[in-house]
Amino acid sequence: MQHRFSLDKSPRKYVCPNCGKRRFVLYLDNETGNYLPDYVGRCDRESNCQHHFTPKMYFDNNPDLRPQADLFGRPETPPPPLKDLSFIPPETLRQSLTAYDRNNFVKWLHSLFDADLVTNLVECFNVGTSKHWNGATVFWQVDTDLKVRQAKVMLYNPTTGKRLKEDSEPDKGKGKVYFAGKSILRQKGIEAPELRQCFFGEHQLSRETGQILAIAESEKTAILMTAFARLGIAPKYTWLATGGKNGAKWTTPEVFEVLAGCGAT
Ligand SMILES: [Zn+2]
Repeated sequence: MQHRFSLDKSPRKYVCPNCGKRRFVLYLDNETGNYLPDYVGRCDRESNCQHHFTPKMYFDNNPDLRPQADLFGRPETPPPPLKDLSFIPPETLRQSLTAYDRNNFVKWLHSLFDADLVTNLVECFNVGTSKHWNGATVFWQVDTDLKVRQAKVMLYNPTTGKRLKEDSEPDKGKGKVYFAGKSILRQKGIEAPELRQCFFGEHQLSRETGQILAIAESEKTAILMTAFARLGIAPKYTWLATGGKNGAKWTTPEVFEVLAGCGAT
């Protein structure tokens, strides 16, 4: 059964009336496609705020505005219980920061830059090694609260730095990619993990304010541009990545809404 009001599933966030961060997810009226007023929603800072103003609270305060369910021949139903977001334990990330001699992407970085710079990039972006495929790399998505949101495993050619492609149907010709978050959390005993992606590199926003942000599509570009900035041959921007076509949901307004309030420019 479709619920009339549900939390917006897009990455669009508003300023939370409780904590002032731009992490507030509004309720959508699925009947009209409009949002309820901008104080009806839930803060997604699970551990630090938890502010939640429900449609029921709103209509209890504004009974005149309550939708007349009878007109639609559909009874009012309570919203589904909210699921808390699941986060990947930080030690799982840390355990992947090893075995770079069999990490194709890191091998490729070594062909371009000196060892100190490669180490710096790998540490800055938490680039890990995965056993999912021989030579695979894991790009961790860590949010501004330093919570680990997702593990994106990819495979590169160590000589060219290009993505290796799937060779069998149904994904033939697409770059190999595997999101490991769900399986990691299932192994930790969480049956139905509730994962939500964030930008790759977003954890850098937990540092000082006043950084100038730049957004790439791919993790590789964000890392390369950071290297060029370190070498002084590109502007000193803080680079994030949307994560390619899987990140296509990040249209321009959402990008700025997620990043506003971080003190970033
Ligand atoms: Zn809040």
